[in-house]
Amino acid sequence: MTKLSTWATVPDNSDFSIYNIPFGICILDDYYYACSRIGDHVIILNHLIEESVFDSFDLPLSTLTEPFLNSFIGLGKSVTVPFREKIQEWLCNADYQDAWESDIFVPIDDVEMMLPVFTRDYTDFYSSIEHATNVGKMFRDPANALLPNWRHLPVGYHGRASSIVVSGVDLHRPSGQTKANDASSPTYGPSKRVDFELEMACIIGKENQLGSPITIDNAGEHIFGLALFNDWSARDIQKWEYVPLGPFLGKSFGSSLSPWIVTIEALEAFKVQGPLQEPAVLPYLKSTGDNNYDIDLSVVIQPKGGTEAVVCQSNFKYMYWNLQQQIAHHTVNGCNLQIGDILASGTISGKSEDSYGSMLELSWAGSKQVALQDGETRVFIQDNDTVIMRGHAANKEIRVGFGEVKTQILPAHE
Ligand code: MN
Repeated sequence: MTKLSTWATVPDNSDFSIYNIPFGICILDDYYYACSRIGDHVIILNHLIEESVFDSFDLPLSTLTEPFLNSFIGLGKSVTVPFREKIQEWLCNADYQDAWESDIFVPIDDVEMMLPVFTRDYTDFYSSIEHATNVGKMFRDPANALLPNWRHLPVGYHGRASSIVVSGVDLHRPSGQTKANDASSPTYGPSKRVDFELEMACIIGKENQLGSPITIDNAGEHIFGLALFNDWSARDIQKWEYVPLGPFLGKSFGSSLSPWIVTIEALEAFKVQGPLQEPAVLPYLKSTGDNNYDIDLSVVIQPKGGTEAVVCQSNFKYMYWNLQQQIAHHTVNGCNLQIGDILASGTISGKSEDSYGSMLELSWAGSKQVALQDGETRVFIQDNDTVIMRGHAANKEIRVGFGEVKTQILPAHE
């Protein structure tokens, strides 16, 4: 990796180093702008391309002032990859450092970050073997925790795209039907078991035609980038409703996405080998090389007015099924992915108990208290708690991070 040195001001250990240059959408003075970020400043791309050095890019201005990045992403990697590299080059060329005082750069606190893409479809996978095993042990047979299909295909379900919200948007505790184990009939009321799921979102950057599967070797071309994702779950509603067709209202009350899409190119230096897959997968799922990503992840719970407490430290590299396999499997029947679609990874748990990516696992189905700061404990998420997920990749030289996805759970509607 070439060493880069920018004239822009970047705080030490910033997620948004010169090596990152992610993409997002912000609102500034009531207008939408496609933007990037360096340190604690957003880069307004519409203003940036007025710099003559970007003249070689035939970027239709409208793609940079729309409420979503879909059109920009749709220009394709042949445009967006060199464009991002040109931004890095420009930020490292001392001839342009006077631009720091221009309207290209805006302090992050002066803008409102929005959802980065319009998402037509959201699929949630179940690709961590540790998570699937924990859930299987709790709810089925500890001796046969994984269902027979699990090691043969990346299990998933169709999620609800309309209720995906950006970091900072509060959600209300959902109400619905639940049934206690010893009750003869269900009751209606606010969920008592609201939970987070620590996940990563893969943002699709290239469509495939209906009827044309994406092969595993071509799957990488369809990934624009990654973001943090909290797949909110109401465990008591989910438990009662999910047989036989899977998650429904226990999931669709909301999912939270971080505002910055870190490009898959920015994560190239952090590729690692995934877990050994036994038994061998079918040929259409066979991937070679390093297809997992070493991204440190953490989950924090902050009671209202209280101190942040880290309850989980995990890593994206634990995923049994990788992104390419998820894409190949998703489209093997001819299903078409579209630009802006989200494929969420599934809860990312590791082997150790402090790496479990949900309260369901951390509290082992509510059987033990999880310690927070200030003497507080939790089994599931309480009203007015804020859950914050953070993630970054780092080695000795560079750091590329995602910032955070932060959501407060408000009391149920009356
Ligand atoms: Mn999930």
